[in-house]
Formats: sequence, C-alpha cells, structure tokens
Amino acid sequence: MCLTVNVYIAKKDSFDRDDIKRLKADTLGFNIYLRKSKFSKRGSHLMIVELGAGGCACSLLTDEAGFDSPTWQLRLEVLDGLASLVNRIWDTVGGLLTFDALWYAEAPVENRDVTIEELYAIIGNNKIGSKTRYFIRSEEEIRKLDKIEEKNKAYLDQMEELFRNRKS
Ligand SMILES: [Zn+2]
Repeated sequence: MCLTVNVYIAKKDSFDRDDIKRLKADTLGFNIYLRKSKFSKRGSHLMIVELGAGGCACSLLTDEAGFDSPTWQLRLEVLDGLASLVNRIWDTVGGLLTFDALWYAEAPVENRDVTIEELYAIIGNNKIGSKTRYFIRSEEEIRKLDKIEEKNKAYLDQMEELFRNRKS
C-alpha cells in the first residue's frame, strides 16, 4: 500500500507547469506532480511528494503509523512545510480545491468542508484524516452551505411531521 497526498483543482483552465513552477514547492521540501487522469478533463490533479522521495508520499509517515488509524501519523518535521504548501496552492488557485491523504486507489469515506485556516491547523497538528477528503472553501461559502443544510433539514422535519399526522 502506498500513501498518496492529493489536491484536486476544479477549474476550467487547467493548472499547468508554469503554475507549479510558481508554487516553489521545493523551497518547502516538496515536489508536485501534475497527474493525467480521468479528472484531467474537468480540472487538475496534483500529487504531493517529499523532495527526493520518488513517486509516493510514504516517506511522510512515521514508522509507528498505524494502518487503520483514523488520522495519519506524519513525521513532525514535514507538517509545517506541507501546511504551507497547501496554503500556497490555495493562494495560487483561488477557487474550489480539495485536499486528501489516502492509500493509493482508495476512495474517501467522508467529505468535509473546511476553511484554509482550519485545514492549515489540521495539517499542522498532525490530524489529517486517513479517509477524509477536505473541501477547502471560503467562510462565506461554508455559511451558505450550512444555510442550505438547515433549510433541507427544516423541510425534512416538516415532511416527517406530515407523515406522522397522516398515520395517526
Ligand atoms: Zn509508497
């Protein structure tokens, strides 16, 4: 099994090599690869690896990292650089992007909306979920989504009430 650290960018104009150069990932001890995948038609898939570590992100893990733990145990010395790099990508893209650290070919079990500040803290505190895909959004967007969820919930509650009344 191989750890992959991924950023998906939902953007019509695909992210290109010049964008990657501008990120200067190597100053933070990382390399970024632009992956060609099915997703490429709709956006860009970036893979983050440690500088000099080859094609996967396994080198980020500590030797004690458990395979079934809900959060990864990454080496403490890589946390700040990784958090800063994701921050740089967010600054460069300025649109919807996701971040995850998953075993190769495994799908996330949970999707979570976070601000870039929240994600920065999650990475910095070594709390990256091992089955979570983080959707980085602005605070305003998250507020809007919460409102939609509230409305949906209110609607469902009303429906439930209706059905309950019909039965009795
Ligand atoms: Zn590996």
